Amino acid sequence: MFKAIYVHLPFCRTICPFCSFPILKNRAPLRKNYLILLLQEIRLWQDKFPNLSKNCLSFYVGGGTPSCYSAKDISTIKQALKIPDSALCSIEINPEDAHLDYLKSIVDLGFNRLSLGVQSFSDQHLKILGRNNTAKQNFLAMEALQKAGIDDFNLDILYGYPDQSLADLDKDLATYLSFNPPHLSAYGLTLEPKTPAFKNIYWQDWNKGKEGLFVEQFKLINISTHQAGLNRYEISNFAKPGFLSLQNLIYWQQKPFLGIGLGAFSRYKKQRFFNYANLAKWQQAINDNQLPVDITENMTNRKILDEYLLMALRRKSGISFAKLTNFLGQIDFYSIFSKELSNLREKMLIKINQRGITLTEKGLMLVDSIILKISTIIDSKLDEK
Ligand code: SF4
Repeated sequence: MFKAIYVHLPFCRTICPFCSFPILKNRAPLRKNYLILLLQEIRLWQDKFPNLSKNCLSFYVGGGTPSCYSAKDISTIKQALKIPDSALCSIEINPEDAHLDYLKSIVDLGFNRLSLGVQSFSDQHLKILGRNNTAKQNFLAMEALQKAGIDDFNLDILYGYPDQSLADLDKDLATYLSFNPPHLSAYGLTLEPKTPAFKNIYWQDWNKGKEGLFVEQFKLINISTHQAGLNRYEISNFAKPGFLSLQNLIYWQQKPFLGIGLGAFSRYKKQRFFNYANLAKWQQAINDNQLPVDITENMTNRKILDEYLLMALRRKSGISFAKLTNFLGQIDFYSIFSKELSNLREKMLIKINQRGITLTEKGLMLVDSIILKISTIIDSKLDEK
């Protein structure tokens, strides 16, 4: 059954201009109603999969801002799902909610990993990002985290946004790393269509001709985290040994997981389920006693392979030829890729050995085009068969 379970709590106090998630403005009546519907959705999934949480290794509460909900509400969700005591339980918390009492009650519920959305320690930049939290709240949150004795935590940070110079990022990194985080997620900001930032001239102008700066920022994060004992294990994720995100690993290893809530998605056997991202439709389905699944996608072997390429190449471990054999049969992958990708190897973008292919730091910055190239080579080999 499901190795990981994810609950999406979509409320945010302010909506960041670059956000492309299905997010709702935080209002108490809406939040209360959402919780009722969410519990109904859990029951509907339990009707379909009676033991859905039996083998759950990782439970994740994300958002949005899950900490808009009280610890009691979070407990209700966890209990409804019957999450086993052995599961690693993680939750995202916004700095403005990270008061000592709240953190302690969350820990008492069995949450052993916290993810704090600090994003920046500059008030000026937090304002540009449209964030609700301030630098002072970030510092207080870190203090509370330490007082609560939470040593397994992640800090979420952003880079590549308007007005942020290399020196600004360097200063921010020094602050993040002074808290000795065992895990750091650093996301380069991209302008997604349909977001206010995408249409905003200020954001658009900033984005123009900044490739050089973004590359330097990407490199700086790698150097600073490495010096602090954190290793990049995926394009945006860095961890000390023993602190890799189990939830992410389950997704990336294509294991079964269940997503519950507005716009959540799940993976089970050779299917993917995408919940409605529209609140009215999600609500209507649940009120009709139907799972709020908008799209059920049957995964062909080729789709599973494409998903594997995408997930594996973004990780330090890269793609394994043994795994490709499972999809494509016995082929001399090493010879084929050594020949066809020799120019990428010469440009120090990839490394190839008898085990498989990994991307270098330089290659990670071009991950999408390299995936496309590998995928095209695979297509041509399939056509020859
Ligand atoms: S806090 Fe996160 S989820 Fe909420 S609006 Fe901002 S980016 Fe989106």
